[in-house]
Amino acid sequence: MSDHAIEALLLEGRRFEPPEAFRARAALRDPRIYEDAQRDPEGFWASIARELHWFRPWTKVLEWAPPYAKWFVDARTNIAYNALDRHLGTPRRNKAAIMWEGEPGDERVLTYADLHREVSKFANVLKGLGVRSGDRVAIYLPMIPELPIAMLACARIGAAHTVIFGGFSAEALRDRINDAQAKVLITADGGWRRGNVVPLKRNADEALEGTPSIQHVVVVRRIGEAAAIHIREGRDHWWHRLMADAALRCEAEPVDSEHLLYILYTSGTTGKPKGIVHTTGGYMAGTYATTKWIFDLREDDVYWCTADIGWVTGHSYIVYGPLLNGATAVMYEGTPDYPEKDRFWAIVEKYGVNVIYTAPTAIRTFMKWGPDHPRRHDLSSLRLLGTVGEPINPEAWVWYYRYIGGERCPVVDTWWQTETGMILISPLPGITTLKPGSATRALPGISAEIVNEQGRPVGPNEGGYLVLTRPWPAMLRGIYGDPERYQQQYWNRFPGMYFTGDGAKRDEDGYIWLLGRVDDVINVAGHRIGTYEVESALVDHPSVAEAAVIGVSHDIKGQAIAAFVTLKEGNAPGTEAVETLKQHVVKKIGALARPEQILFTGELPKTRSGKIMRRLLRDIAEGRIMGDTTTLADPNVVEALKNRYEEEVGS
Ligand code: ATP
Ligand code: MG
Repeated sequence: MSDHAIEALLLEGRRFEPPEAFRARAALRDPRIYEDAQRDPEGFWASIARELHWFRPWTKVLEWAPPYAKWFVDARTNIAYNALDRHLGTPRRNKAAIMWEGEPGDERVLTYADLHREVSKFANVLKGLGVRSGDRVAIYLPMIPELPIAMLACARIGAAHTVIFGGFSAEALRDRINDAQAKVLITADGGWRRGNVVPLKRNADEALEGTPSIQHVVVVRRIGEAAAIHIREGRDHWWHRLMADAALRCEAEPVDSEHLLYILYTSGTTGKPKGIVHTTGGYMAGTYATTKWIFDLREDDVYWCTADIGWVTGHSYIVYGPLLNGATAVMYEGTPDYPEKDRFWAIVEKYGVNVIYTAPTAIRTFMKWGPDHPRRHDLSSLRLLGTVGEPINPEAWVWYYRYIGGERCPVVDTWWQTETGMILISPLPGITTLKPGSATRALPGISAEIVNEQGRPVGPNEGGYLVLTRPWPAMLRGIYGDPERYQQQYWNRFPGMYFTGDGAKRDEDGYIWLLGRVDDVINVAGHRIGTYEVESALVDHPSVAEAAVIGVSHDIKGQAIAAFVTLKEGNAPGTEAVETLKQHVVKKIGALARPEQILFTGELPKTRSGKIMRRLLRDIAEGRIMGDTTTLADPNVVEALKNRYEEEVGS
């Protein structure tokens, strides 16, 4: 973003105060928490960490030798103990921990006592297969209760998990297993997706042809006969058989605060996925605290995060954060449109969900489908709405607020990354005045800054690079097996500061607006324009559901703007629509942001976690060979777009 300001500013003036009814009962109401944390960040994190159980206390809160941090130095703890055992002597013992909704109508409720028992048994199974503290266990499962059970069982004995999203191919699975050098793989005979079988075990078999580190495979029976899988004697074991013989008791192993908890690969939106390393103590304190503050959980709440556990959102805010808080969490196996497009709202009604946490990509899809689907259900149990994953366009924010939240629920737009482990920028729902499209400000105890090329803070409304200037408890401890990439990717650009890779600006009230990836910024005739602002201007038009904007080479301007647009149901594409939308962008932002080309498309290329992959759109527009596409949700979308683009725009 160099020294230039981002000159294109989407005018977004709407403000939403925390509703009085919400504020009155919110856990955090006093804005002084920010100053308290600022005065003594380490003391602040220590006081939150003390709410958890430590087998041995720390001698020092933080040891910071950039770029390596140690939190809660010398302490010993166990995150599975804190997520389960800690609740057993309390009335939470028989409270639902996980309420699971399976795709073909299956259901299962696990109380804290149930979950503790299953986890302890599976921890014994792992030990029986030779898994020891420090070993890596790969998990390739659908969204079924065995997934959190397996993760917690690893943590219980000090083994690290590496969860690979069940939608990934054999190739992606193999690469990740090899990178992590996993000893055991846990998978299922298959998974259900829209009534069809996903052949997980067959993919795994293919991957296992090139994974010498794997000694044993545990297979959950999810599908049964229809999966028709092969079990290799000696290597493959049925989950239920092993569990039938497993002993009930397995004490949680006290591990060092910096003990490896898991490796998780990033979404791959910008390139080859990175194996992000998270350790125990700081991650535990960070996910515990943020879940408590941001989702404002009450003892009898039902909380639902719609992410897949294969992504960091599922790790931190389906499994660890909620269980550390003794919450009741809904876990859903299926998709939003099966059997009907009202599936999410049917689930909210059925379980009486109070807090829902989902992604802008889902919200934009719901906008495309229209408000009749949520209208068919009683959503009055909802009290708080959350979003994560991409910048949320103000129109999508307002739609969510109005049609899902009934204008009574605050929306927490939470910014964070696989690398950060925990939410870092977000409103506190009982304190913060909301502005649609802004993640508002860094949480108490977190220091975020927006800097220019020289690493100096930029002024109000100037675009810059989002950096973090102090270590935080759940921060990554490295890229697995690649210290050089860790240094180079995050720390070389601005010495002493963590470089997020995201662009942002701060407005006159100090609110942070995420502008998308730094690499996605477009330079039109010397004006730096954030893709996200042009996209938001397009989505602001009533006919548009979703838009992706990229820069394409232009002889005179250097770069010009190309937009890929998905219309809401019932709107027709065509030259008239193109002109209308160009005019709309000019009106919202200015002539400099006028798209040169607009191409209508039914779908946009997205990662499997639902993020728009602009680098592929750039490849299409510039006629280049595609880079890494292993994390793409549907390769056909790119092929179809490529053909259309060449027809309509020329290559
Ligand atoms: P890769 O690093 O492999 O390219 P990725 O960055 O998509 O993949 P994640 O760690 O899942 O992988 O995503 C983190 C990124 O998602 C952030 O850096 C940011 O760009 C985006 N993001 C997440 N939440 C928000 C939010 N609330 N507002 C804006 N952007 C967000
Ligand atoms: Mg990233």
